[in-house]
Amino acid sequence: MRALGQNFLVDTGVRDAIVEASGVGPGDLVLEIGPGRGALTRVLAERVSVLVAVEVDPELAAYLQRELADLSHVHIIHADILSCDIGQIALTHARQAPGPFRFMVVANLPYCITTPVLHRLLSASSLFEAFTLMVQFEVAQKLMAAAGTAGYGELSLLAQYYTRPELLFTVGPMSFAPPPRVQSAVVKMTVNRSPYAGDLDPSPLFAVVRAGFAKRRKNIRNSLVSSTLFGGDHDLVAALLARAGIDGRLRAEQLGLEEFARLTRAAIAFGAVHAADGKSGGEGGDVN
Ligand code: SAM
Repeated sequence: MRALGQNFLVDTGVRDAIVEASGVGPGDLVLEIGPGRGALTRVLAERVSVLVAVEVDPELAAYLQRELADLSHVHIIHADILSCDIGQIALTHARQAPGPFRFMVVANLPYCITTPVLHRLLSASSLFEAFTLMVQFEVAQKLMAAAGTAGYGELSLLAQYYTRPELLFTVGPMSFAPPPRVQSAVVKMTVNRSPYAGDLDPSPLFAVVRAGFAKRRKNIRNSLVSSTLFGGDHDLVAALLARAGIDGRLRAEQLGLEEFARLTRAAIAFGAVHAADGKSGGEGGDVN
């Protein structure tokens, strides 16, 4: 079903390389998103202590539940991952893990929901050790992109704030059935224990990032002014930029995490956003 991004992995070499690169092993609790026909699921099940796989397609979920019924450490959940409470999944299944466990995600993601899934994983990243994910090649580029390069934007900033993303290898369409129309790549995102700009709460930081990218084609000054966060206040934005030492003629895509962090500290100092929740404006502070 195209709507569900059902391009099943048929290349066992790629399958093994993903599982190997993920580094999962005994003691780990692993969440697989979209197990499909179980290409990765079976190999993961051989390695880890607890495997929770969330599949939205009722037939595939029922098929896997039957196929893997004798593996008591494998749980196939029929659900939409976007409606799941990921923290609750960890909590529920942690009891089965022997002692302290690492919580990892391994998935060949349905490409149609990659961005919302990434947002959810990143906002819950403190629970996790790492995410090893097959994504569309363009998404992998966005995750890795540095300021001023192609694909750079809010997703790059989020990924690099919460994790250290690495592009492990690319995968061609013929590794899947049916083949997707796009190139794919496997990325590993290792969660930062002390996030970059760790003195800043992510809520105000990403509220400012979102305001900066609100009008992508405008320069940062105009984008911030026209954002609901700064409510059309030219003087405030000019003062923030001056305090942060940022040239207002630059565009958001030329600014790195460090510049956005300086802007956010300035906005907090001026009382324009709250240090803890970024609730001053309409862009919202959550990564969702
Ligand atoms: N892991 C399998 C593999 O590698 O062959 C299947 C990968 S396929 C690219 C994506 C899978 O995600 C499909 O089985 C699809 O039904 C499932 N899926 C799509 N949307 C989903 C959602 N919202 N929640 C959970 N699973 C979803």
